[in-house]
Amino acid sequence: MNRRRRIYEGKAKILYEGPEPGTLIQHFKDDATAFNNQKHDKIEGKGVLNNRISEYLFQRLGEIGVPTHFIKRMNMREQLVREVEIIPVEVVVRNVAAGSIAKRLGMEEGTPLPRSIVEFYYKSDELGDPMVTEEHITAFNWAVPQEIDDMMSVALRANDFLCGLFLGIGIKLVDFKCEFGRLWENDTMRIVLADEISPDCCRLWDIESQEKLDKDRFRRDLGGLVEAYQEVARRLGLHVENNPQPNQSGPVLVRSQ
Ligand code: 5GP
Repeated sequence: MNRRRRIYEGKAKILYEGPEPGTLIQHFKDDATAFNNQKHDKIEGKGVLNNRISEYLFQRLGEIGVPTHFIKRMNMREQLVREVEIIPVEVVVRNVAAGSIAKRLGMEEGTPLPRSIVEFYYKSDELGDPMVTEEHITAFNWAVPQEIDDMMSVALRANDFLCGLFLGIGIKLVDFKCEFGRLWENDTMRIVLADEISPDCCRLWDIESQEKLDKDRFRRDLGGLVEAYQEVARRLGLHVENNPQPNQSGPVLVRSQ
């Protein structure tokens, strides 16, 4: 029986103690939640797909010099990562109006933004992740100004790179959420990209059909979530083992390229 120590359990992932000090095992669950856990379901195969897609994106980002917590994928549902001190701020980068910004500012979904916009949200389930400004982040000591600068520049760099990567496979990166952690090495500390980047925390639209290939399929009861994530994996050239067979009666999401 597996006796690993569980460090933390979130809505979609579990963190276990890793094999070496300073490492953790990040386990991807099949649970899908939305609207601060008011909507909850298990979607077979989601965790496996997110593990593989996030591995791929973190590796590509690592190759261009973006510092991340990722070390290696261990199996279908788990990856080895560096233990970091998570900064309690979600960083959202937006290229196109959708979701909460469209609602907040009365914009039509799909309207291109004049430039990429970075927003911060305080990580708090009880409060429903409220939007905050740099003033709140520094006043409440969640991060210092230099850390905010680092998070913004890494998030924008990742956004530029990921926009191009997805464009190359016929997908528009509408927006995404990322998280950062402090990684201590001896006496020095640096900010690294942590958590995951997967269709659970991005909006990905097919460029031709505008079909949603992300978690909005769950949030908006569109169905076909696993099929959409499989399509993203397929276009990235990933072979994801042991995929559940797509529901043949479900919606046909995208044209084949
Ligand atoms: P919005 O603020 O429009 O709801 O979300 C903006 C982007 O950030 C979307 O791609 C959404 O998936 C992602 N996002 C925002 N908050 C969360 C969160 O708490 N969990 C996950 N998985 N993604 C989030």
